[in-house]
Amino acid sequence: MTTPNSSLTVTDRISLDRGRPFFAVEFFPPKDDQGEADLWRAIRRLEPLDPAYVSVTYGAGGSSRDRTVRTVGRIATDTTLVSMAHLTAVSHSVTELRHVIGSLAANGIRNIMALRGDPPGKDPLDEWEPHPEGLMYADELVELCKQSGPFCVGVAAFPYGHPRSADLESDTEKLVGKFRAGAEFAVTQLFLEPDGFLRLRDRVAALGFDQPIIPGIMPLTSEKTFHKGPELSGSPLPEALVKRLEPYTGDQKTFRAAGMEVTGELCERLLAEGVPGIHFYSLNRSTATTELVDRLGLLAPSPAPTA
Ligand SMILES: Cc1cc2nc3c(=O)[nH]c(=O)nc-3n(C[C@H](O)[C@H](O)[C@H](O)COP(=O)(O)OP(=O)(O)OC[C@H]3O[C@@H](n4cnc5c(N)ncnc54)[C@H](O)[C@@H]3O)c2cc1C
Repeated sequence: MTTPNSSLTVTDRISLDRGRPFFAVEFFPPKDDQGEADLWRAIRRLEPLDPAYVSVTYGAGGSSRDRTVRTVGRIATDTTLVSMAHLTAVSHSVTELRHVIGSLAANGIRNIMALRGDPPGKDPLDEWEPHPEGLMYADELVELCKQSGPFCVGVAAFPYGHPRSADLESDTEKLVGKFRAGAEFAVTQLFLEPDGFLRLRDRVAALGFDQPIIPGIMPLTSEKTFHKGPELSGSPLPEALVKRLEPYTGDQKTFRAAGMEVTGELCERLLAEGVPGIHFYSLNRSTATTELVDRLGLLAPSPAPTA
């Protein structure tokens, strides 16, 4: 067994990097044995690259939720990685949420991404109904996590506004409400061009908040990720990118090369704009993240040789 790193919070870990941009990786809980093997292969390949943290999403149903707690617990104990569990308020009473937060603490997890969650079912834009004894908004879950123990809490941010927000100003107010409730950092929904992110960052700074806002980036490795990502996230599909990638339609290999070039350019621009790091939506694979980390120079420097 390697040395557990689970006692570090995400903010501890980010500050250890002393301004050097970091990368982080998001996974989802595996559905079956094959998925578990794929996930652990990806984790073991990424571990030596020293991501600042890795996170595991929280699903809509019972067994997938147990797998989140189990997976993130195993990452905390069996790897050198700082781990973070996502948690949502969907279909949970406050008592159940306290219970899940307690199991996370018992598994050595110090970091929680506190989310309202999407309505259960296929359409994330369906009406959201709180549990009768549950919570309505993510800021309440941030407060519950902070009252429950010494957790470092992250929240979601939306460069183009959450689909249910009336406008960008009120959306930004709700984001800073989550910071007021105790969240230490935010990770954004995926996006394909930098302007929405940069404007969000300016609006948050204009309201007097300086918590890190980490861009969430999905490597464009296939036509499916290019089209499905924006559809599910509500981020626009920029016309210029559609035109740029059109010639590669139907050819997976050249589409991947062009898509990865687009993703690399987006990350380069964000780093030039001073983002603290990049959170990659990995889809439980390691190759695309590894290629981007290498291209962007985000690998941790090797320790100096000892005399
Ligand atoms: C980085 C990231 C990770 C994610 N991981 C998961 C996951 O693991 N599992 C999952 O199911 N989903 C996940 N999601 C999706 C997320 O749960 C949905 O997008 C959800 O619809 C919004 O969650 P939220 O935490 O931003 O909600 P909230 O912050 O509660 O916002 C929801 C809506 O309510 C409004 N609002 C917020 N607070 C208030 C308030 N106090 N008063 C009035 N209105 C308010 C907001 O403006 C917004 O329109 C993730 C999203 C991101 C960006």
